[in-house]
Amino acid sequence: MNVQPKASHYINGRFVEDEGGQALDVLYPATGEVIARLHAATPNIVELAIEAARAAQQSWARLKPVERGRILRKAADLLRERNAELSRLETLDTGKPIQETLVADAASAADALEFFAGAIQSFNGDFVDLGGPFAYTKREALGVCVGIGAWNYPIQIAVWKSGPALAMGNAFVFKPSENTPLSALALAEIYTEAGLPDGLFNVVQGFGDVGAALVSHPVTAKVSVTGSVPTGKKVMGLAGSHMKHATMELGGKSPIIVFDDADLENAIGGAMLGNFYSAGQVCSNGTRVFVQRGLHDRFLERLVERTKAIRLGDPLDEDTQMGPVMNADQHAKVMDYIASGKAEGATLAVGGSAPAMQGFEGGFFVEPTVFSGVTDQMRIAREEIFGPVMSVLSFDEEDEVIARANDTEFGLAAGVFTRDLPRAHRVIAELQAGTCWINAYNLTPVELPFGGYKASGIGRENGLAVLGHYSQLKSVYVETGNVESPY
Ligand code: NDP
Repeated sequence: MNVQPKASHYINGRFVEDEGGQALDVLYPATGEVIARLHAATPNIVELAIEAARAAQQSWARLKPVERGRILRKAADLLRERNAELSRLETLDTGKPIQETLVADAASAADALEFFAGAIQSFNGDFVDLGGPFAYTKREALGVCVGIGAWNYPIQIAVWKSGPALAMGNAFVFKPSENTPLSALALAEIYTEAGLPDGLFNVVQGFGDVGAALVSHPVTAKVSVTGSVPTGKKVMGLAGSHMKHATMELGGKSPIIVFDDADLENAIGGAMLGNFYSAGQVCSNGTRVFVQRGLHDRFLERLVERTKAIRLGDPLDEDTQMGPVMNADQHAKVMDYIASGKAEGATLAVGGSAPAMQGFEGGFFVEPTVFSGVTDQMRIAREEIFGPVMSVLSFDEEDEVIARANDTEFGLAAGVFTRDLPRAHRVIAELQAGTCWINAYNLTPVELPFGGYKASGIGRENGLAVLGHYSQLKSVYVETGNVESPY
């Protein structure tokens, strides 16, 4: 399999190569084979990208919002037309099953562009009546914005950041995760084809040092990172030392709370979606599943039955429900957590092995795994695993479960399953999490702001909220009388 792009980087509307950059091999996680060879950006490439963005930004910001929106909507159409090929590329880059990438990746990116193309047209400032004089506020672009992506939703992350940034009149430089560099290049070509002027969306490849160079460059105004909490802290520190705007979309260890009166099959379906989609590599996953004592045993029994039926295998086969995790390091990390769960006394209810898959011997597969009898202090209940490993914990009382659910440094997401709706709202109101679901899990429509409390994040993506994070507010006071000066 070979999906070698025309070059490593995309700058000023065209592909650019600099073989002086560190080699970057792209692996297909299902087999471990190299499917593309790229180079990380050299300082010269970083400079070219930022200069192209700087040069293009002001005339873009002067266009009417409706004109910017028209181009983004065209890009959305192209993403939809090419969904099949983009999904295949995303599957090869990430190992996620094609049945997921066909509906969740380029398709959600298209929805996002369509939403921002429309939303920008009514995202205006305010009129302020001052009783004679008046004032107005105006939303202005920040300038050149930087996006740094994680490897689980590469094209979606690229669009969730660049879509609102471009809509607001900014130029963008995106650094994908070095594990998944391919679909951002395809997106760059689509933007150009949709009519986006050269220089407004640039892709530079590389490792953390390239991300850091983009953030600390004097021309860039903002960074939005999707990644782990430790990376977020580093980037936030760097952005702070240069007084840049920053949005942090980071990791989690989110709770799903299932009360005795919940619909059993729906609660199990939600917990499985919240642990096994994308082989568990989803930031908002509800990896601590608290089940009330009266339902616990039935929940576990049925969960194990349904988990055993998950089809693991060839990601390009539309019947496959779960692919491998990202790479050898992630595989080792997940297996280490499974070993720690056993060692700390949790009960392995199902899964737990790295299965040998015929024809995919070099792949990074992990069985969907459920631990029961998990207690709050175990590592598998405290640390983000980022793999298909669910912890089931039992509880008795509402107050008790709220306190336990909140006892974490993270605060990205939370879910509650119950038929008692007053209780659902009461519990959600107490949970320290930025993104919550009642009787559902892990649905992230672009209309709804997404992001975390506590160490899980700062700022928001999606909804109208994100447009605020890609703009700055200008306040304008207008005098209608004379200047009353004592001098
Ligand atoms: P990492 O934190 O390892 O990396 C994120 C990105 O930051 C990568 O592009 C990485 O480059 C880059 N980077 C690393 N160090 C620096 C630095 N010092 N300065 C600038 N950039 C840097 O995350 P993963 O890619 O492993 O993704 C998994 C994590 O992302 C999980 O914790 C997950 O929860 C979180 N995530 C959060 C989401 C959210 O919206 N809240 C959504 C999806 C994932 P390189 O890859 O080269 O190291």
